[in-house]
Amino acid sequence: MGKLDGRVVLITGAARGQGEQEARLFAAEGARLVLADVLDEQGRAVADETGGRYVHLDVSREEDWAAAVALATDTYGRLDGLVNNAGILRFNELASTPLEEFLQVVQVNQVGAFLGMRSAIPALEAAGGGTIVNTASYVALTGMAGVTSYAASKAAILGMTRVAAMELAGKGIRVNAMCPGAIDTPMSNPGEGVTSEALDALYGKLVPLARIGRPEEVARLALFLTSEDSSYITGQPFVIDGGWLAGVSLF
Ligand code: NAD
Repeated sequence: MGKLDGRVVLITGAARGQGEQEARLFAAEGARLVLADVLDEQGRAVADETGGRYVHLDVSREEDWAAAVALATDTYGRLDGLVNNAGILRFNELASTPLEEFLQVVQVNQVGAFLGMRSAIPALEAAGGGTIVNTASYVALTGMAGVTSYAASKAAILGMTRVAAMELAGKGIRVNAMCPGAIDTPMSNPGEGVTSEALDALYGKLVPLARIGRPEEVARLALFLTSEDSSYITGQPFVIDGGWLAGVSLF
């Protein structure tokens, strides 16, 4: 028995990184998947390997969302879960962040999560309830220099998660958020000569568990929040950061 047997789940940003690992784990646990991204070739390959359907979905575009949810209901007859995973990161100091860049990050991370939740509600309700997992960040809860636009968008995701959880509980829809620290994906590792070992050495100095996180570990949290294992949990942010937020160490 898989933890997601019979459930239909839409995962955004599923072409690589955390979304890809969520797709692989959810498929292994029996889910039927709609995988969405703007990286069509990579996304299609993950869909083929996991037996899912791929859809080109720019999460910032309302009309793309309607088509993605329709693909789930047309193909499988229902939608039980949404993982809002797609996101982008831009580094810039506040004083030199162009408005255009700020709005681009908000459009993908914040508006994308808003549109995703809003678009999925009717199908989740029609299925008798379901789950939404939003991907926020460690920087939704604490500061980090150089990421004004990203931190703003991720804090907004936590705000929306709480409101949505309250409004949707009566429809049987649970809404939670994940707050990853540093995770070894293309977002945190441009990959040009930077090995996972080098990242472990860097984060070994910052993080109590002394390494960078793996996307497979975030996928296991997403599975928990999408499955019945979390049946009495809604409206909460879940930190997955190797202890980074626990405090500072002098030793
Ligand atoms: P990633 O860059 O490997 O994956 C992000 C995916 O989102 C990519 O496949 C990308 O093509 C897709 N995407 C980007 N813009 C999109 C759009 N407009 N529409 C649809 N898809 C789009 O990074 P990741 O680490 O796997 O990131 C997954 C999520 O985790 C993101 O929301 C990110 O902000 C969050 N996060 C990552 C870290 C980290 O350290 N890697 C830490 C905290 C939170």
